[in-house]
Amino acid sequence: MTPCIICVAITGSLPTKANNPAVPVTISEQIDSTQEAFEAGASIVHCHVRDDEGRATSDPERFARLKEGIERHCPGMIVQLSTGGRSGAGRERGAMLPLCPDMASLSVGSNNFPTRVYENPPDLVDWLAAEMIRYDVKPEIEAFDLSHIFQAERMHRDGRIRATPYVQFVMGVKNAMPVDREVFDFYIHTVRRLFGPDAPWCAAGIGANQIVLNEWAVAAGGHARTGLEDNVRLDKDRLAPSNAALVRRVVQLCEKHERPVASWQQAREILDLPTTALATATTAVLAPSSP
Ligand SMILES: [Zn+2]
Repeated sequence: MTPCIICVAITGSLPTKANNPAVPVTISEQIDSTQEAFEAGASIVHCHVRDDEGRATSDPERFARLKEGIERHCPGMIVQLSTGGRSGAGRERGAMLPLCPDMASLSVGSNNFPTRVYENPPDLVDWLAAEMIRYDVKPEIEAFDLSHIFQAERMHRDGRIRATPYVQFVMGVKNAMPVDREVFDFYIHTVRRLFGPDAPWCAAGIGANQIVLNEWAVAAGGHARTGLEDNVRLDKDRLAPSNAALVRRVVQLCEKHERPVASWQQAREILDLPTTALATATTAVLAPSSP
């Protein structure tokens, strides 16, 4: 069985310490939480940053500090920065792409969110996709709807997305696609039909549905996203003590379904990303060792 890539969405734009004190908000909390999740088995970290008041921001300077800290403490881990629409408006959302992270999230269509419209107008989507090509950032397509998978295919066909799109099915956002097994199966069928039988895909569920989507994805050969961004509880009585605890739930599901957990090297291979350790090693060889 293909190893399962576990993505940990550590913070998001919405959860606060009042929801769960374990939500990492400052950069140093985020780095610590990521390291613990990495050691528990996560190979991708999906990142948002917050300002000093704890509000979501797209501030590239904060993203730079977070990326640098994660790269130092979790060598090899895939860093994915969010260009999601809760952190900023318009092109602010892509202000961190010049940092050249391994990956960034990309929403290719609009839909409703719990209290608002999640606006992804075509010109902004195209601009974000072009910036990702410019800075060699691999997009993760956030599919809140079936039409978003087809839009990713169109963008791939005409060159707006370079490599085979890596699609994440997001289910259980209020007012958007609910958690529905038949739709989930049809999503997989559609990805295989449009992108080939071996195209990797992943899935995320919100709230109590996080574990449901984790299990569906692990059992069906996909990759799984977990983390406090999407869900702050272990079950209805207990808050999740950490991002790592949520990662460990997915590791257990992998054991149950006999899927190995992907190392960062395997995750990079599956997603066709460069092996940074190799790059670092090459630099070390080329760089003089004395100061
Ligand atoms: Zn996010």
